[in-house]
Amino acid sequence: MTHSASSDLFTRAQQVTPSGVNSPVRAFGSVGGTPPFITSASGAMLHDADGREFVDLVGSWGPMILGHANEQVVEAVQEAAGRGLSFGAPQPGEVSLVEEVVRRVRPLEQVRLVNSGTEATMSALRVARAATGRDVIVKFAGSYHGHVDALLAEAGSGVATFAMPGSAGVTEATARDTVVVPYGDREAVSALFAERGSEIAAVITEAAPANMGVVPPQEVDGIGFNRFLAETAHAAGALMISDEVLTGFRASAEGYYGIDGEGWAPDLMTFGKVIGGGLPVGAFGGRAELMGLLAPAGPVYQAGTLSGNPLATAAGLATFAGLDEAAYETIAAASTRLQQLVGDALSAAGVPHVIQTAGTLFSVFFRDAPVGSYTDAKAQDTEAFTRFFNSLLEAGIYLPPSAFEAWFVSTAHTDAVLDRIAEALPAAAKAAAGAAS
Ligand SMILES: *Cc1c(COP(=O)(O)O)cnc(C)c1O
Repeated sequence: MTHSASSDLFTRAQQVTPSGVNSPVRAFGSVGGTPPFITSASGAMLHDADGREFVDLVGSWGPMILGHANEQVVEAVQEAAGRGLSFGAPQPGEVSLVEEVVRRVRPLEQVRLVNSGTEATMSALRVARAATGRDVIVKFAGSYHGHVDALLAEAGSGVATFAMPGSAGVTEATARDTVVVPYGDREAVSALFAERGSEIAAVITEAAPANMGVVPPQEVDGIGFNRFLAETAHAAGALMISDEVLTGFRASAEGYYGIDGEGWAPDLMTFGKVIGGGLPVGAFGGRAELMGLLAPAGPVYQAGTLSGNPLATAAGLATFAGLDEAAYETIAAASTRLQQLVGDALSAAGVPHVIQTAGTLFSVFFRDAPVGSYTDAKAQDTEAFTRFFNSLLEAGIYLPPSAFEAWFVSTAHTDAVLDRIAEALPAAAKAAAGAAS
């Protein structure tokens, strides 16, 4: 890239931070070029250090569901900041935030707050292992649950993007306790439980996988995949953990459970992203009997200096306050229109693609057949995506910089904002097709 404020910052960053970024996908490794360094954001727009403006379709990977710098959220955080940044003692906002989460999500009786989705899934595994006295965790290829050692085997997202088999630095002993199954493969799940059921502590699944692109769980004979997993786990005395870090409070007001949660319940659930409205919050919860295993009452240790931080709970509460029925309708309408625009542009340019949804979440795969598993997802034309991405970026549209990510819209993605995307799409679709635009 030519000389720019962002390229100067990237050069400086690379001296003092590995690859210049604090989370891998931000390095633009799979799409090339220099990542714009963002200096401010408002509504659906990002502004970078070079004064460029972008329509944002990342939304900080989910949290910014009310748009950037939402007035009510910012005010709530400012007001909280004036009362002190951290107490290391209980504070009222924690109670209110957890009450709100428990009120929204039927299976939850008790919830503990942490600082990230990774902490949430890590802690949920610990509870599951303690509750069952077993070690083995079952996960699905292409699912991402944060950078927990035990859950990095064949993870999607950044790991898929960089085509790493798992991660260096994870011990063999840890890897041995994780079994990876192809997503959606009921026969493989049943066979695994038949063979090793008595060793399995839990199966963990993204409520709707969205870190290999969006791959919604499928029904067979009226039984959804999540329900099937819960029933299979329970028959073997194991637990089912539903990871709603990404889908929670986005796929619907009750997360993905609000879409497929009839006649079954997960034992534990994990949250992050939206729950903190842009500040670092995660949460895990479930039945009181399981959550009661946590210290200090129970034997499972889990703690956090900044857990339940007053600024973070203020941001989460203000975000929930804005997430009424009308907000979800606005997001659904924006998501539907954007899918239509993208689909039309790619079809007009003859680019093979399939758009998959989970509630208002969606992603675009550059292949012509439905994607049901990570193997399918990897069979897409990532070079077509890269051309599409770079054309849109040049035109001021900021897509997730990977073909394996969901696209995120917010209540701030108005028709005028989507019109800007519509203008940029025909040229990007032509670029994806490989034609000169
Ligand atoms: C983002 C994500 C995580 C990890 O959350 P962090 O806050 O990044 O640690 C876990 N599970 C899912 C499904 C996610 O999308």
